[in-house]
Amino acid sequence: MGVIAGPCRLCGGRTAAALTATDRNREVDGRRFAYDRCLTCATIQLGGVPGDLERYYDDGYHGVPTPGELRAHAVLEAHKVELLRAHVAPGRLVEIGPSYGAFAFAASEAGFDVTGIEMDADCCAFLERTVGVRAIRSAGPEAVLARLPPSRVIAMWHVLEHLEHPGRVLEAAAANLEPGGLLAIAVPNPHALGFRVLRGRWAHLDAPRHLCLVPHATLVERARTLGLELATTVTDDPFARHCNRFAWEYGLRRRPAVGSSPTPVVRASQVLEKLLAPVERTGLRGSAYTVLFRSALGGAVRGR
Ligand SMILES: [Zn+2]
Repeated sequence: MGVIAGPCRLCGGRTAAALTATDRNREVDGRRFAYDRCLTCATIQLGGVPGDLERYYDDGYHGVPTPGELRAHAVLEAHKVELLRAHVAPGRLVEIGPSYGAFAFAASEAGFDVTGIEMDADCCAFLERTVGVRAIRSAGPEAVLARLPPSRVIAMWHVLEHLEHPGRVLEAAAANLEPGGLLAIAVPNPHALGFRVLRGRWAHLDAPRHLCLVPHATLVERARTLGLELATTVTDDPFARHCNRFAWEYGLRRRPAVGSSPTPVVRASQVLEKLLAPVERTGLRGSAYTVLFRSALGGAVRGR
């Protein structure tokens, strides 16, 4: 701590060195990455984004599913669709970073008119041909959102942490939503118990792919300035529970990138997840959280 680093990627505030970590999850190389913490908004962020960041996504970061696997994966996404359906009727839905479209498929089956903004060319082809939704290939979602018609839902499932300019994408999303529309965001939680305990060994730091970890209060406040009201926060859905267990599994391993986890390690992670459930599933202490924001102002924000 104490070393003053670059300005915060979210609020522009001053940052200080927080921790360093290697790419434990994939071991693309042995480089050590420095993360800083914003002194104003407490966002944890990668200090210097590598110029060759794409390299850390290579080698099957997105695994191509068969149509059968797509359907099976879509079942696991049903809780997200149910969460949205509890707040809005189906309408135009834009998903940023849909990968191979398990959620896009589930949302489309539930009646949403889905468009995916995705940087990977193979994913885009799969989205159009197999998933059956529109796909726009781009690494700049803020620019794409600016030219799309108003959306009822914009969804970002574990995407915000990968963005170099998360603030710009939040602004573009807020401006694109129709009045009463929803912005759904799921992210790793920098206030997680797992992060406090495991630090650089925490799987959801995912150096260097995760560029920022935004605290719940910071995200809520930023959204509020964009005319978005917090509709709900979820910390106990199936994916958040998976994130809790997975963090302990990878945290217990010396080299999680090499081979699959031995059964005793998986069992130990299951026990830890269960024992820690009263802590991790409440009070924003779990590995991930999901927030739904509702556009209160709609056109008024758009005109600003
Ligand atoms: Zn900040």
